Amino acid sequence: MKAIRVKEFGGPEVMQLVEVPDPKPTGAQVVVRIRAAGVNPVDVYMRSGTYPRKPTLPYTPGTDGAGTVESLGPDAAKRFKPGERVYLAGSLSGTYAELALCEEQFVFQLPAHVSFAQGAAMHVAYATAYRALFQRAHAVAGETLLVHGASGGVGIAAVQLARAAGLRVIGTVGSERGGKLVLDEGAHVVLDHSAPNHFEEALAATGGRGYDLILEMLANVNLGRDLGILAMHGRVSVVGSRGNAEITPRDMMGRDGAIIGMSLWNTPPHELICIHAALVAGLENKTLRPVIGQEIPLAEAGRAHTAIMAGGAHGKIVLIP
Ligand code: NAP
Repeated sequence: MKAIRVKEFGGPEVMQLVEVPDPKPTGAQVVVRIRAAGVNPVDVYMRSGTYPRKPTLPYTPGTDGAGTVESLGPDAAKRFKPGERVYLAGSLSGTYAELALCEEQFVFQLPAHVSFAQGAAMHVAYATAYRALFQRAHAVAGETLLVHGASGGVGIAAVQLARAAGLRVIGTVGSERGGKLVLDEGAHVVLDHSAPNHFEEALAATGGRGYDLILEMLANVNLGRDLGILAMHGRVSVVGSRGNAEITPRDMMGRDGAIIGMSLWNTPPHELICIHAALVAGLENKTLRPVIGQEIPLAEAGRAHTAIMAGGAHGKIVLIP
């Protein structure tokens, strides 16, 4: 098969499309023929060698993907037949490839109306949004949520999940196009996070009461000011950060507030399977509708990595083998 291989950490150019042996399933493994692979910022951090989790070189990037079941290992529970449409929550061999080796328990059925590209958006973006909102920050209906960075993969997922669960949703974006998308996907109000006064606007959007919950995509830039717009007992669920932040602890103390960290990688397997049960239900009842901003050929994976770091997010970027 053809696959992207990274032999050394570095810029986008270290990703090369090469011929490698087809993976073979053993035990309870499944091989999936990848029809779309999701691109995530973490793929960029890993490829550049700056992420705390470093893959052993050489490696094939990619955690997200969707396609059809190619073959099953002898101990697989046979939840799927060859040819069935599925998406996957992580793979053992990397998804930037024509075939990916997966554990059967982390493969999920893709409803007929959901495209492969949309399936490739389900794991990192939607599972992260679900875990940050519900399992870590215990969001409940009636609460007011700020999705700080609502136009990207995790942000759109959070807007759809929170709307379906009965929260009031305010989303921030950095472009007009992103703003239209976030409103279309269910936010009640959209604000521009490049405007210096957007924290004042965000507070005004709650009538001055503040936020029960903030889902933060860029904590190094925003965390200090997030604490000042929390409601009593408000929480900031930190999803993304690209550096250090300075905070005023009294902003938290005065509100009995909390900062909650989360990493999708820390999710115990049984909780991950619960998350995906909820996500598949959301796809089936159409409250979840992954938005694909760009489809890029697998051979141009480097271009996808440059695009995801460029800003002006509009849903997900996927690679097509
Ligand atoms: P993405 O699709 O590239 O989207 C990035 C988002 O950040 C966009 O909505 C972008 O808005 C927004 N943003 C840019 N500047 C911002 C600012 N000053 N304040 C608030 N938001 C800003 O990335 P993603 O997949 O949604 O991931 C978002 C972040 O979460 C990334 O840092 C990623 O590494 C992290 N993440 C963490 C986990 C975890 O397990 N903790 C899992 C998945 C992702 P515009 O482009 O419209 O400006």
